[in-house]
Amino acid sequence: MQSVQELKRRAEEGDLWSFSTTDDQCDNCRFYKALKEGIGYCAHKDLDMVVGATWWCKLWAPLVATGRPGQQQGS
Ligand code: SF4
Repeated sequence: MQSVQELKRRAEEGDLWSFSTTDDQCDNCRFYKALKEGIGYCAHKDLDMVVGATWWCKLWAPLVATGRPGQQQGS
């Protein structure tokens, strides 16, 4: 089970923010798995938590090229 202290540590170490100052945000990051409108799961092993679509952290990484623009891996 994830404790609040553990989640807080991961959020701080990942420099997680509830907004992005650029076009990079959770819902266009390779680790984002959509759960429902505006809410997703971050599958990065260092975050491993529910996140918002418009959030951002320093572990952001671009989607792996699929040859199909706009398609997310594993969704
Ligand atoms: S790695 Fe960071 S930017 Fe990417 S989905 Fe997870 S929290 Fe969002």
